[in-house]
Amino acid sequence: IEFYNEGIDGTSTKRLDLEKHMRKATMNECDEFTVYFQPIISVKGEAVCAGAEALARWNSATMGFINPVDFIPLAEYLGLINPIGEHVLREAAKHCRYWNDMGYPDYKVNVNLSVVQLLQNDIVKKIKSVIDGVGIEPENLCLEVTESLAINDMVRMKRILSEIKALGVKVALDDFGTGNSSLSLALELPFDELKVDMSFIRDIKDKPQNQAMVQSIIDYAKRTKTETCIEGIENREVDDYIKKFGATWHQGYYYSKPVPIESIEKLIRK
Ligand code: C2E
Ligand code: MG
Ligand code: MG
Repeated sequence: IEFYNEGIDGTSTKRLDLEKHMRKATMNECDEFTVYFQPIISVKGEAVCAGAEALARWNSATMGFINPVDFIPLAEYLGLINPIGEHVLREAAKHCRYWNDMGYPDYKVNVNLSVVQLLQNDIVKKIKSVIDGVGIEPENLCLEVTESLAINDMVRMKRILSEIKALGVKVALDDFGTGNSSLSLALELPFDELKVDMSFIRDIKDKPQNQAMVQSIIDYAKRTKTETCIEGIENREVDDYIKKFGATWHQGYYYSKPVPIESIEKLIRK
């Protein structure tokens, strides 16, 4: 006996459509995929923009504007995250080089790297070819990875991340604290930056446990000479409140939502 419901047909047709259009879009040099940028603010002294995180958007000719949560998992499953991710990396590096040349030599760009990309045998070569091709200073590029890499061979992951770091590129652990292997991963792998997940920040003023957790992460990072970025700051009240924790960078809608390149350039020149 099988149970039928109308939703099944709709969902699988939508999924097949998405797959068909995604394959086509990646064959067309990925030009339907654009990069939005969200400013990263240095809060060590006076709050100033220190760079931006690159976030992929798919502007599909047939299906309209699609957010990453709705296409990245499928792109990872199909292996298409490799060309898409490389396109995002190259675009982000190009823009960062431009900001660096325009009088902001220390501005950095953070780019999300899927574990599927990390598993490619030639990933280090690919990253090097982008750095050399674009001419960006490697230390102005930070690659963000998530805890999902822990499901893989850790010896291999450690080797790959070390080879990436040997290029001079920085490596960050994104969404830190959300998975069940955060602490052991931070101990085992050579991260330059921990990005404190936004779930700790929402309602932080009313939650002593969250306050204790964020303070402990930042204290740990300071002792191990690791930088920290607090994500998901949505208003001034939270921004003022969390300054006392002493993170390196703040990021969130309070400063700006992710925006297209033209808009980020207005923001970073302030
Ligand atoms: P992420 O890397 O953790 O990026 C932060 C996400 O949080 C972004 O969502 C951003 O728009 C959102 N965000 C930032 N500040 C706030 C805030 O104050 N409040 C709230 N509610 N949200 C905030 P977005 O752009 O939809 O991206 C979602 C995820 O998709 C990213 O999470 C990342 O894991 C993935 N992603 C995006 N672009 C790429 C890419 O080029 N490659 C890969 N592999 N993954 C990507
Ligand atoms: Mg990220
Ligand atoms: Mg994140």
